[in-house]
Amino acid sequence: MGYAYDDQNIFAKILRGDIPNSTVLETEHTLAFRDIEPQAPTHVLVIPKGAYVSYDHFAAEASDAEIIDYTRAIAEVCRMEGVSIDGNDGFRLISNAGAHGVQDVPHLHVHILGGRRMGRMVQPAG
Ligand code: 5GP
Repeated sequence: MGYAYDDQNIFAKILRGDIPNSTVLETEHTLAFRDIEPQAPTHVLVIPKGAYVSYDHFAAEASDAEIIDYTRAIAEVCRMEGVSIDGNDGFRLISNAGAHGVQDVPHLHVHILGGRRMGRMVQPAG
């Protein structure tokens, strides 16, 4: 078993600089950039630079330094985008994983969505 990482996925290409992105924040272990098809006024994707498929993969196998950097970067993006509940109206954080999570890009990403009130958290399967 084990988590199989495909280094041809689109976010791996973004990390290699093969595909441009609209960067919001870059740190030692993390990159945050705008989603190409935004679903809300704020729609930022936050990815680790390491080769992790999903949140569970990252949480199980990333180093403490990567986990701290990634988690703090999410807080910083929320602050920078004006969606932190520290003085703002909040956001939704989503991380899809695998087939049942309907994950399209197999490199860990969280979506930070804000700037409007979100709908119901889980829709019927389409
Ligand atoms: P998932 O369904 O895997 O959780 O979400 C993948 C997200 O990546 C989608 O919201 C999609 O719009 C976004 N996306 C796909 N390709 C690109 C790309 O080349 N650049 C950017 N910035 N976002 C992308």
